[in-house]
Amino acid sequence: MTTALIYDPIFLAHRVPPGHPEQPQRVEMVMAYLRELRWLQREGLVQLPPRAATVDELAAVHDRDYIQDVETVCHQMAYQEATGGEDIIMLGADTYASGASYTAARTAAGAPLVAIDAMMKGEIDNAYCLVRPPGHHAVPEAALGFCIFNNVAVAARYAIDHYGLERVMIIDYDVHHGNGTQEMFYEDPRVLYFSVHQAPFYPGTGLSEERGEGPGLGTTINIPLPAGCGFETYEPIFRQVMAPAADRFDPQLILVSAGFDAHWKHTETQDGLAVQPGMLLSTAGFAKLNEIIINLASTLCEGRLIMVQEGGYDLQATASCAVTCINQLLGDDAAVDSYGPPPHVPAYRINTDVLIAELRRIHQLTGYRMRNAPKPDIEKLRREMYGPSTSSTSSSDQDKKDEQ
Ligand SMILES: [Zn+2]
Repeated sequence: MTTALIYDPIFLAHRVPPGHPEQPQRVEMVMAYLRELRWLQREGLVQLPPRAATVDELAAVHDRDYIQDVETVCHQMAYQEATGGEDIIMLGADTYASGASYTAARTAAGAPLVAIDAMMKGEIDNAYCLVRPPGHHAVPEAALGFCIFNNVAVAARYAIDHYGLERVMIIDYDVHHGNGTQEMFYEDPRVLYFSVHQAPFYPGTGLSEERGEGPGLGTTINIPLPAGCGFETYEPIFRQVMAPAADRFDPQLILVSAGFDAHWKHTETQDGLAVQPGMLLSTAGFAKLNEIIINLASTLCEGRLIMVQEGGYDLQATASCAVTCINQLLGDDAAVDSYGPPPHVPAYRINTDVLIAELRRIHQLTGYRMRNAPKPDIEKLRREMYGPSTSSTSSSDQDKKDEQ
């Protein structure tokens, strides 16, 4: 296995106001963990320098006017930084830019493109893009929710436009719905967008009825979950809704919007990003979900899998989840879990069986059997249910009687 880690210190140069949760330490801490674990020297791990996505590559999903605006504003900030003026500006709702943000955001969008190139050349099997700013809230014409350019969407279009891929799947397990990614591919049948997220919650989109439109009808799958859900809900949804939907779509590449803000640790942070009780995934829980994704990629698209970091604002929890992803991409199954399981069980439970049956109905998966699912051994099942065949027993009994 060869796994690429794609990271650049430019991601630290995108500055936000003091106290803002989307801070440079979010990616710095991941690098610190990797150094401490001595994983940067691990066999099979290659570090690839990212490049900035070109304006044309960004313009596949963003308006050119908006890209130009970001560049202009960042140049202004760089000038003001040099001249001692105000050097951070609000670019969109909750989203800020400093002098280096244009380059940082273009490089965050360029990271998965480097991964796609290396993968298509056969140089790597999979990749982890350790980037910021994140991307999945960015819409075609605006920055939103800490995101400037939609990294994973730019990557999906690049794979389609430059390599002629016909089917790309995006799996988004960030606790927030990736409204930007959904919007960019809502009418595009070439991209299957699958999102599992807390609802009702920011940004308010991602109802299960939002299934795509026109030729894209059916290639948007939203799984809104109430706060308090944990691994017991995520796991069967991944196995019984995501996996068959992926199998039916038959992707040639899987991209993951890897946000770690569904980690239970976020329920304890008072940063306004996850309300109590929040979601209750542990790092080990994320690892089990990753395992399902990795197995799907290996079954469906020769292991072609690129994870692109999105949210996650508890520094340690985010770092433990990110290094766990990298470990798993390298073929190891151990989670680096500094916190363990969630400390409390929610006071209520949802009926997962009923929920899954409904989701399978909405997404027309009722009765769908995955192509490579093992055929049930009917004889074995019958023996388990009814015991040894009574007819053969009675006939052998009859034979014995006959002999007597
Ligand atoms: Zn998020």
